[in-house]
Amino acid sequence: MGLDGDDVERILRDLETLKDTRARIDNKISVLESKLRQIQQKPCPQQNGSVCSGSCPATSAIVPGSSHGLSADMVYRYSRHLLLPSFGVQGQSKLSKSSILVVGAGGLGAPALLYLAASGVGCLGIVDHDVVELNNMHRQVIHTEAYIGQPKVKSAAAACRAMNSTIQIVEYEEALRTSNALDIMSKYDIVIDATDNAPSRYMINDCCVLLGKPLVSGAALGLEGQLTVYNYKGGLCYRCLFPTPPPTTACQRCSDSGVLGVVPGVIGCLQALEAIKIASSVGEPLSGRMLLFDALSARIRMVKIRGRSLQCEVCGEGAAFTQQHFKDFDYEKFTQSPLATTPLKLNLLSAESRISSKEYEDKLVSGEAHILVDVRPDYHYKIVSIPESLNIPLSSLEARLPEVSSALKEEEERKGKNSGTGASLYVICRRGNDSQRAVQYLHKMGFTTAKDIVGGLESWAHDVDPNFPMY
Ligand SMILES: [Zn+2]
Repeated sequence: MGLDGDDVERILRDLETLKDTRARIDNKISVLESKLRQIQQKPCPQQNGSVCSGSCPATSAIVPGSSHGLSADMVYRYSRHLLLPSFGVQGQSKLSKSSILVVGAGGLGAPALLYLAASGVGCLGIVDHDVVELNNMHRQVIHTEAYIGQPKVKSAAAACRAMNSTIQIVEYEEALRTSNALDIMSKYDIVIDATDNAPSRYMINDCCVLLGKPLVSGAALGLEGQLTVYNYKGGLCYRCLFPTPPPTTACQRCSDSGVLGVVPGVIGCLQALEAIKIASSVGEPLSGRMLLFDALSARIRMVKIRGRSLQCEVCGEGAAFTQQHFKDFDYEKFTQSPLATTPLKLNLLSAESRISSKEYEDKLVSGEAHILVDVRPDYHYKIVSIPESLNIPLSSLEARLPEVSSALKEEEERKGKNSGTGASLYVICRRGNDSQRAVQYLHKMGFTTAKDIVGGLESWAHDVDPNFPMY
């Protein structure tokens, strides 16, 4: 009647295989559909390499006697757009001839891409070098479980094609770099920045200024988001507003920030909206103003932001920033943060002040007298922790040093009577960065034997306890 372990394992294996097959079939279908469409379409007169210039919506017969260039299928598909007096056939016709590049197929890019595809943008470019992961699912609603482990670009393109097979979709499965940005971005009318890091923001902005492209910029973190349009018809650019990058210390902590899934969803939708307005020349783009969204209080505020700065190094009066400058510019150095999302690995301590998670396991098994201090924030600790560890967040370590002393004393009394060497002090965090900072501080405060567990809980889950949930 009941299932034994072998059955469960077999089912899991079968599921894995089936999901894999489904993803591959999905992919094949969308590639074939796309091929078929290309064969059926008339050749695009302005086709430039592999990328559509935007002037080639899939044309079944154009409605006779009309000047808008929309086919009968398009009239039906976009009829609710056409019935909007302020948008109408002119808006749709312009949109269908436009090309929009979305950089990043993550939390912001997901809703932006879906709406842009649905609304009939002529050509949609997607840039991303990441793969789909389970912990993307709560916000990156364009991806499905079947695509876990596969490139986000493939997943996003398939979702867009499934929704609207009549538009051109171009996939760039690569990171945007100074070496490829000019070439890629020059092929589009409008750029959407849906990335989440400082070097990309500056790089995309500078490239848009050089190429004269409007930039729809959005950001979402925690429970807040913001949105604006840069470089639109002589308006300011990102550098006019932020000539120098923000300090990076906060971002280098290994406690990554959380985000409520729907918050980037809201901002991404608004990015799509701004891009559609610009592409169709309808309404008033959000240039010179910034929209601030506060999810908790359900407030949207609009603040006026400065105009173009004459001193701006990229778009200002005497700015001599050329395409060659751009290609040579080191955005990672400028912002002191990496372009890729690989977490930073600090190396602050000498080898004798560090032990591996395996070595710590040995100490646990041997019953060595010790305490383990977990320096993550308490909301991290509440997710998961090693039993018997003591949670003292790095930010309150200074104030709570007496707790470390008394825990050590207690442990010595309990276990260490015959060892004579006292109890050891180990420190752990999520990835092994904050724990090193903590050990550095503890050494300074006289706890000279404190040691850091290399790689933190991530390496504990990887090397010691595969059932330990990571987040
Ligand atoms: Zn500027």
